[in-house]
Amino acid sequence: MAIKIDKKITGYNVVKPEDKLAATPVAAAPKEAPTAEVIQMHESVERPETLVGSTFKIKSPLFEHALYVTINDIVLNAGTKHELRRPFEIFINSKNMDHFQWIVALTRILSAVFRKGGDVTFIVEELKAVFDPRGGYFKAGGVYMPSIVAEIGGVIEQHMKNIGLIHDPEMDDATRKLIAEKRAAYEQAGAKKKADVTAAPVGAASAATAPSDTESNGFPPGATLCQKCNTQALVLMDGCQTCLNCGYSKCG
Ligand SMILES: [Zn+2]
Repeated sequence: MAIKIDKKITGYNVVKPEDKLAATPVAAAPKEAPTAEVIQMHESVERPETLVGSTFKIKSPLFEHALYVTINDIVLNAGTKHELRRPFEIFINSKNMDHFQWIVALTRILSAVFRKGGDVTFIVEELKAVFDPRGGYFKAGGVYMPSIVAEIGGVIEQHMKNIGLIHDPEMDDATRKLIAEKRAAYEQAGAKKKADVTAAPVGAASAATAPSDTESNGFPPGATLCQKCNTQALVLMDGCQTCLNCGYSKCG
């Protein structure tokens, strides 16, 4: 194959057989579909006209009116194997204007963090660790919320789980089995106690009211707060505090 050289030669290389082999795939690559550049999240990614999102309602005894938390997502590299849905902005709405200024500040900073790119999941733990000095409250299911900010953190965590940014640590089968066994043992012991009470004449009334107590959050009545999973599921078994939700045990 003859190649006409119409420019000044400024340098040269001798092509060896192995260079030719190595060069072939590279030369062929551009003929195939030009691989699109993978877009990562960074500050100058422009906001598309339309974003997809979710709105969560937060009802707290600390707030007179509900809070509505909206998180909108951007979908990067849509339709490719690099498709990634990331939170892009957050808004919080409420009828209650008492907390307006810090809510606006919080949402602006959170939105800025989302747009910075990189790993943004850390903000969940930061928010969930905020304690209200006036005290927190219990959610349905016996989960303790130390503050309204922590609950906003919980909502963001839920959203990040929904879009696949955070994955629940898979509870291994052994732990799950152990919790089920402990729970069964605890309930059996409770049933035995209840049967003894029912046998006594005064016990009839208390036995009748007992089931509704048990159903309140799925954990036995009188269960205390587990420090590990923030759920009211800690019971005393064989003289040892044991959590029926996450399996935590004071005795290891
Ligand atoms: Zn626990």
